[in-house]
Amino acid sequence: MYVKYLKCSRCGRIYRLEDKPVMCLNRDLGRLDIVYDYDRIMEDVKPSMLRERIASMWRYREFLPVPSDKYIVSLGEGWTPLIKAERLGEKLGLKNLYLKDETRNPTGSFKDRAMSVSVSMAKYFGFKRAVVASSGNAAAALAAYGAKAGIEVYAFVPDFAGYGKIAQLLFYGAKVFRVRWSEAEDPTVKMMRLLAEKYGFYPSPSFGPFNPYQIEGPKTIAMEIIEQLDWRVPDQVFVPTGAASLLTGVYNGFRDWNMVGWINKYPRMVAVQPEGNHPFVRAWMERAEPERIKPWEKPPETIATGLEDTFPWDGDAGLRALYNTNGYGVVVSDEEILEAMKLLAGLEGLFAEPSGAAGLAGLIKALEEGRVDRDETIVVLVTGHGLKDPDIVKKTAGDAPTINPDPEEFFKTAEEYYKVSF
Ligand SMILES: *Cc1c(COP(=O)(O)O)cnc(C)c1O
Repeated sequence: MYVKYLKCSRCGRIYRLEDKPVMCLNRDLGRLDIVYDYDRIMEDVKPSMLRERIASMWRYREFLPVPSDKYIVSLGEGWTPLIKAERLGEKLGLKNLYLKDETRNPTGSFKDRAMSVSVSMAKYFGFKRAVVASSGNAAAALAAYGAKAGIEVYAFVPDFAGYGKIAQLLFYGAKVFRVRWSEAEDPTVKMMRLLAEKYGFYPSPSFGPFNPYQIEGPKTIAMEIIEQLDWRVPDQVFVPTGAASLLTGVYNGFRDWNMVGWINKYPRMVAVQPEGNHPFVRAWMERAEPERIKPWEKPPETIATGLEDTFPWDGDAGLRALYNTNGYGVVVSDEEILEAMKLLAGLEGLFAEPSGAAGLAGLIKALEEGRVDRDETIVVLVTGHGLKDPDIVKKTAGDAPTINPDPEEFFKTAEEYYKVSF
């Protein structure tokens, strides 16, 4: 509808949507950035028209690449609440703290936005088989949307992947393979790439060089934030970061609305990574050139399993987002992430997985580092649901004490075990 063309981020080669491009034919893993016809969007749409629209991310139809409504594969993703965090804000000394609750998406993470767009495009292109290299939230989302669309999903996971996540994939009907990992190269990405390039499978991971469409989904997070803040632009947005596709997508959402003149500035974009794997924030600290990000040298060590990308596939665009918005990166420990999980659940009733709570851990770190003013408007993305990672929950929540049905025993045990007084 409003896509002008696609342009490779590496070699500059131009593609038209009708030619069904997914990966650059030069095979150097450039990302096919989508260029929209902003003039035509400005003629056809006014911000006031949004109010009447559907309560899903598809309310921003003109900024998404799917050519016709009949291809849209939706489970009701997006239009998640932006929650004013009163108790947490008070504890941190912030007057205007908001949580974007992405745990409410159909499969429990923001990846649903990405896969809704990706699978819609697969349907338009006529693909019958999709392939992904992940056992995490991207695979779960792809499996669900693939089921809805009647597209077969093949998922390659490392041989050591935990069973919990695989069970969810199998239930959605995905065909899951554990791939033995013996060389340095990630064998799951190798398989995905082979099946895409040689056998015509549709590659649908949550990073750009292998699929340029999915990254358009998370743009809508930025658009919702603007609408939900009554057209104010926040001062800072905290984003848990792995491949930096989410960071890039959210930035692109603010970019699109600057381009059509609906807003006239950017928030500072803040990338948060765990200590045990922070190649992207390290690149920011070194003021690296966007095309020259070094991968993390060791296996990732963090409870935030959604942030384990040792190479940030969309780090080039992510770094530009930080540089263009006077943004920055912060690094947080696993202990700080656990503490953030407890604060979110205990003060705001919001249960996030470790990757989902990393953004809040980043905000607390940024406050300590003096990077946040108390009256700034801060948005923290809470990206994935706590029940996604039952192992972590079991390990850290502990168990409940057992008592006889006796009030005296209840009061005594409550005082001892939970340290409350009556
Ligand atoms: C994938 C994921 C992220 C990170 O997104 P990237 O695009 O890889 O940077 C953050 N939180 C959760 C819950 C995720 O699943």
